[in-house]
Amino acid sequence: MAVQGVEVWVGLGSNLDAPEQQLELALALLQPLALDDSLQCSSFYLSKALLTDSAHDENGQQPDYVNAVARMRTILAPHDLLQQLQAIETRQGRVRDEQTLRWSARTLDLDILLYGDEQIDTPTLTVPHSAIHSREFVLYPMYELSPTLMIPRLGELARLVKRCPMRGMRLLNDDRGESGVENAP
Ligand code: ATP
Ligand code: CA
Ligand code: CA
Repeated sequence: MAVQGVEVWVGLGSNLDAPEQQLELALALLQPLALDDSLQCSSFYLSKALLTDSAHDENGQQPDYVNAVARMRTILAPHDLLQQLQAIETRQGRVRDEQTLRWSARTLDLDILLYGDEQIDTPTLTVPHSAIHSREFVLYPMYELSPTLMIPRLGELARLVKRCPMRGMRLLNDDRGESGVENAP
């Protein structure tokens, strides 16, 4: 009997060192974590960085992000998946130390958005990801892949998309075809 695994959703983001290539490499490194040919990725989007009071340059800026979301089936347990994602981030030059400010520019960020319909609250892992509802660069790409998706705790994805401003996000022109923001509800 074929192994079914669990459907997980992963958010990808980069705004340093050739972000588009960072996402392409990350997708290649996610492939071995996915069952069969289950890995799918949204279009790539360009979005404005989230800024804290301190995580920006002297002009109050950060480079735009390239973002996408991927979904796949996996047999990895939630914390094992987190560990694998963090290993990919590190491999691609993500620096995590005490000096690194929250939301500062990074080569790669991989977040677990959903893990099946599970709700997880541990010191190192919150699923669904705690900010799904407010992030255009998560909601719109998810909608592109699954317009009828229901999110644990939050309900219909389409309703969340309708309430979330796009903040200037746009498709990265990467010849992936027409999809995504144009089809939003
Ligand atoms: P945000 O979580 O607001 O998107 P971030 O991605 O910049 O911010 P990180 O510095 O990458 O935050 O991660 C901080 C910690 O968040 C990680 O060490 C991890 O343990 C924890 N974490 C909690 N829930 C999740 C999740 N669903 N996916 C990834 N990391 C998570
Ligand atoms: Ca993040
Ligand atoms: Ca993260």
